[in-house]
Amino acid sequence: QPIVIITIGMAGAGKSTFVQRINSYLHAQDPPKPPYVLNLDPAVTHVPFETNIDIRDTVNYQEVMKQYNLGPNGGILTALNLFTTKFDQVLGLVEKRSETVDYVILDTPGQIEIFTWSASGAIITDAVASSFPTVIAYVIDTPRSSSPATFMSNMLYACSILYKTKLPFILVFNKTDVQPHNFALEWMQDFEAFQAALATHSGTRDSEGEPTYMNSLMNSMSLVLDEFYKHLKAVGVSSMTGDGIRDFFAAVDASREEYEKDYLPELERAR
Ligand code: GDP
Repeated sequence: QPIVIITIGMAGAGKSTFVQRINSYLHAQDPPKPPYVLNLDPAVTHVPFETNIDIRDTVNYQEVMKQYNLGPNGGILTALNLFTTKFDQVLGLVEKRSETVDYVILDTPGQIEIFTWSASGAIITDAVASSFPTVIAYVIDTPRSSSPATFMSNMLYACSILYKTKLPFILVFNKTDVQPHNFALEWMQDFEAFQAALATHSGTRDSEGEPTYMNSLMNSMSLVLDEFYKHLKAVGVSSMTGDGIRDFFAAVDASREEYEKDYLPELERAR
């Protein structure tokens, strides 16, 4: 059975470049392991890799915008909703290929919240995860997460996705060619290191000598995050150079076990 990799990331994090990179990595294996690729972004103008199923072949989001008198985001969301109504057929197609394919890559819309905060996103994720081992790859712009406050908000976003989906989760620190991700690993492993960075960055006391609002907020948040970090894997990659992609696939393969051990029993209980 193949494992499905759902790629999610803020616009600009490098998700498209990452998908392109893991796709070419799999093609370059000996023997080649071409993945089955699904594009769920109706608004993307250019997909630099071959897709097996493309939402754009089914719905034209610009037509949807015109027809329903919507703006771009409404158009994308409605296109995704329309596509979701046919998703059982999509799963059927993936199942047909499940003997011959090791990896299925699901690329989500560039506007992250269209997938993470919509009914369709949840329906698609649940449908996929109840049919195949599934893992979320959350792509992060490492250089742009190097201040403690942006790092924290990015982690909280990831945390909300983890708790919604409950699926095995990989934090993909991208663009390590620009900035290595060791600071992130340190902050995740050592709460005090994170606090120290925070203090250096934003100070801990206001002019009255009281702890700043940001400081106390962050301190309480980090306890939540500490728990969150225990439940996920983190890898550093450069989608530009290909560095770390092998580690990413090691994390994906390990996630298959996690899916079987943690997610599947929950799913069966819920049934
Ligand atoms: P998306 O909006 O998340 O799909 O992001 P893109 O894949 O379009 O990438 C956004 C920008 O980041 C582009 O200019 C990419 O060339 C750049 N980028 C993506 N991955 C990397 C990387 O690993 N290293 C560097 N230096 N730049 C990257």
